[in-house]
Amino acid sequence: MTARVLVVDDLRPNVKLLEAKLTSEYFDVITAADGPEALEKIRESQPDIVLLDVMMPGMDGFEVCQKIKADPEMMHIPVIMITALSDASDRVRGLESGADDFLTKPVNDIAMFARVRSLVRLKMLTDEWRLREQTSGQLGVLKDEKPLYEVNARHANVLVLDDNEVDAAKVRATLDQDEDDVAAVASVEAAHAKLREDRYDLVIVNLRLRDQDALRFCSQMRASELTRHTPILVVAEEDDTDRLAKGLDLGINDYLIKPIDRQELLARTRTQIRRQRFQERLRDNYERSLAMALTDSLTGLYNRRYLTAHMAALIERMGESGKPLAVLMFDIDFFKQINDTHGHAVGDEVLVELSRRVVHNVRSVDTVARLGGEEFIVVMPDTEEPVASTVAERLRANVAKDPFRVRGGGDQALEITISVGAAMFEPGEDSVDSVIKKADDALYEAKRSGRNKTVGWTDAGFTTLGAGEARA
Ligand code: GH3
Ligand code: MG
Ligand code: MG
Repeated sequence: MTARVLVVDDLRPNVKLLEAKLTSEYFDVITAADGPEALEKIRESQPDIVLLDVMMPGMDGFEVCQKIKADPEMMHIPVIMITALSDASDRVRGLESGADDFLTKPVNDIAMFARVRSLVRLKMLTDEWRLREQTSGQLGVLKDEKPLYEVNARHANVLVLDDNEVDAAKVRATLDQDEDDVAAVASVEAAHAKLREDRYDLVIVNLRLRDQDALRFCSQMRASELTRHTPILVVAEEDDTDRLAKGLDLGINDYLIKPIDRQELLARTRTQIRRQRFQERLRDNYERSLAMALTDSLTGLYNRRYLTAHMAALIERMGESGKPLAVLMFDIDFFKQINDTHGHAVGDEVLVELSRRVVHNVRSVDTVARLGGEEFIVVMPDTEEPVASTVAERLRANVAKDPFRVRGGGDQALEITISVGAAMFEPGEDSVDSVIKKADDALYEAKRSGRNKTVGWTDAGFTTLGAGEARA
């Protein structure tokens, strides 16, 4: 894995030492001698991770970290604080100012590489989501949301897997401070059962289970679709370094060394929960923007973009199965008059009610889309011509039969009619566009010859499939 690391320290020998170690592991290293220079370098060269000294003249490490985590352009970059003293309060302050991790001087190589790698991996995942979100055209959706370190980290659902009752009780008592909902289990089987039942924001695992393999459990969590993204915090002992390094490679997110320091546990727990919630938010936004790109916000129906892609896929599949495909196009009669007489809001209500009726009148495998304005399409796979004609005419009759109740303009019932055009897809002859054009031509013929009418397209010309009384 290659990544760009920014090393920030006011003492030159410290910088040189870290630079040499990291370069020998093929990291690309850049350096800064104080806070302001660090912030400048971050903006300029977008590192994948920052190793940040706490004690620096002027702006100290805590302040630099807070600035990074408050800036939407930088907050996704992981920060590892480097403290000279093994002072617990310093570490906690670091984590509270948004640092993702800390190391104490002199820096232990295995711990450093393991943590750098695991944080860089996590960042790459986040970067991918950020990128997808941007390409989905929803730039700016996160602009007014809270920065990462302000995402609420309390009231989380936490699962604890530990067969040591004393430690489990200590973890539970500590997390009570954040009013987390803690479920504690003593066996791997029980943990799997819990994970199937519920969604957890964090899983805390004792690395030294007496009769079971904790690392195997972690790798199973990573392999399962349900828990792939759930953060794992491991509780280990001082001399577990090798297994910890393996665990970090497997995808555990963080660890604590026993004896458990309550403040540290709380800080690490909060960091993981925040990160998890932030990533969930990114995923949600992505899914929401995807839905927005493919559906019509007024009616909830699919839009033209989705429909064209979907039809192309259907037609390709159809080529293999030889099953028939029918297309219906319809359009509200004299819709402009409805808007003119009752207002645009009433027009919108009519569009929504019409969509509801159409969806109720077709099968779930049929696709209903709004192509624009008051023009709709229904694509029906595996449908023969007589069936398509019946459905088309049933739809027209259903709309005409019961007046549309609308609330706007004081509860009224409006007589609405539609005109429908139907066409069959001819394998070997038609494309997505040509079959839509056939249905559209049939629709135009229905309009031309009186409206409130269903017309089918055939090689020999148009055929009337049904008609009701047309308004003037
Ligand atoms: P025809 O019977 O020939 O279809 O006549 P029409 O009046 O329905 O057709 P025309 O194409 O002349 O007018 C369509 C109208 O649909 C004009 C436009 O303002 C209205 N419209 C398009 N989109 C919307 C919408 O989202 N909401 C509302 N309320 N009206 C819309
Ligand atoms: Mg119309
Ligand atoms: Mg129209």
